[in-house]
Amino acid sequence: MNESDFTQEEEQLIERTFQELLNDYAHTIHRQKVEIITRAFRFAHMAHRGVRRLSGEPYIMHPLAVARIVVKEIGLGSTSICAALLHDVVEDTEFTVEDIASRFNPKIAQIVDGLTKISGGKFGNQSEKQAVNTRKLLLTMSEDVRVVLIKIADRLHNMRTLAAQPVDKQHKIASETQFIYAPLAHRLGLFPIKDELEDLSFRYLLPDVYNEIDSKLSALKDSQMENFKRFVEPIRKKIDHLGYEYTISARLKTVYSIWEKMQKKNIPFEDVYDLLAVRIVFKPNDSMAEKDQCWMIYSAITTLYRPHPERIRDWISTPKANGYEALHVTVMSPFGQWIEIQIRTERMHDLAERGLAAHWKYKAGDTGDVIEESELDQWLKDVKEVLEHPDSDAMTFLDTFKLNLFADEIFAFTPKGDFRTLPQGASVLDFAYQLHTELGEHCIGAKVNHKVVSVSYLIQSGDQVEVLTSESQKPEPEWLNIVVTAKAKKALRMYFNRTDVNGKPRNLTAYPVTIVVRGKDTFGVLIRILNIVSNQMHLFLHSLHTETMDDLFECKMQMSVYDEATVSVLCRELSKIKELTDVERIDNK
Ligand code: MN
Repeated sequence: MNESDFTQEEEQLIERTFQELLNDYAHTIHRQKVEIITRAFRFAHMAHRGVRRLSGEPYIMHPLAVARIVVKEIGLGSTSICAALLHDVVEDTEFTVEDIASRFNPKIAQIVDGLTKISGGKFGNQSEKQAVNTRKLLLTMSEDVRVVLIKIADRLHNMRTLAAQPVDKQHKIASETQFIYAPLAHRLGLFPIKDELEDLSFRYLLPDVYNEIDSKLSALKDSQMENFKRFVEPIRKKIDHLGYEYTISARLKTVYSIWEKMQKKNIPFEDVYDLLAVRIVFKPNDSMAEKDQCWMIYSAITTLYRPHPERIRDWISTPKANGYEALHVTVMSPFGQWIEIQIRTERMHDLAERGLAAHWKYKAGDTGDVIEESELDQWLKDVKEVLEHPDSDAMTFLDTFKLNLFADEIFAFTPKGDFRTLPQGASVLDFAYQLHTELGEHCIGAKVNHKVVSVSYLIQSGDQVEVLTSESQKPEPEWLNIVVTAKAKKALRMYFNRTDVNGKPRNLTAYPVTIVVRGKDTFGVLIRILNIVSNQMHLFLHSLHTETMDDLFECKMQMSVYDEATVSVLCRELSKIKELTDVERIDNK
């Protein structure tokens, strides 16, 4: 096979797209390394020759599109552009990482290698939890953030072209995007990409809901734009008067963010009031600090419209951990609608659009790729630092993704900044036991974010928890209903086995052990009789939120293993799962 497998028109399209990529690149401040980019393109084109995507277009159009996202929407330089052009070569063709290293350079090869590892089976394994995948992604990221940035660009293009995939794959790819890539893009400060990823995955995950909201939104578009014009008219006059060069744009909420709001507040579409946001991007002058100039514009606006006292967000004095800077204010419009206004300088805007990757641009001037390396490396060091030694800043760092990323896990911090991972629903007691059994047994409550709470308080992700203890405190039987972690349950069970109701030591009988053995035996027999296969067992344990049989009897059942009624309920559950999955097995044949 050779390149002539494509028609002449297709070859022209490929060439034209490549020229567009070079054109995008020419408009950046990077040192112009056109030669190596051209070689990377020729090599990738040759390596993917004759291959087509599901949509029918030549495969090389995909790496070209990813490279364009990398330069235009993320703002990376030649090393990343080359890696993007080559990102599928090792996975999909006969060429190896060594081939890339010898033809280009070790850095490009290393990034391509990282990308190949992420997309391979290593992360695709269905049985692995998404949170685990995410952690791996984060680890890869701390090796070289460009791997993740290019991966996000790759995913964005795949989402834009998802219609060509079969429906079941659409679903899988969309949900992975929703749970991993959108939150990551958010955390890296790539807000427009995050919005687009969320909207696109939502469209495939819940097409009916998406279409309904989308059509309602479209119907309102004209009137919202009318409102916008009326609303900004006087603002323009004020800023003109201040003498700034600026743009004011309207932003309609995305379909996904509308839906999110409807869910969170449990309201219908009609009650989502902040559909419209206004963004002011201006060129500051040298006479004053950027921050002061933002506040001047704020002041001009709030003499026109009344600000909402609780909705002023100063991300300039304290930028978000993902680099976001802006001044947000919500004001009452003349037509009785609250409207959020974001005030940003051009620099802040660029940061918000292209994330931290744009940071170096303002520090580096025009020296190009050399600085790209060192600045990104520095940033990576910071990320690593935070991942390894979370302190109070780490909380803001985690803040932007905590709710999305680890749906079934939460993080909490000790006053010293150590952090612990806990399952959703964990209480202060769980946290105390997690730190030390001794702390758990004497726990009387905690200070969560400096506020005193009881032992049963449910910890939220990002909470700072200082466990409070008292020498005279001892475990109470009802604690068994409070704790959810295996460690705490086990410790409590052991405590009650070695003490009587008054907390006094007692003579241990062999009976708890027998009970566990008996429960397990009953199950062992049942498993054999029913011919339960391992994935059915897995489903069963999963439905009870445990991993192993031991866990089940040690922790979940607490003291009640001997309770025949409970055992029979479990037996029924197990039979039910067996019945259901057996049917599936037959269907699949
Ligand atoms: Mn790809």
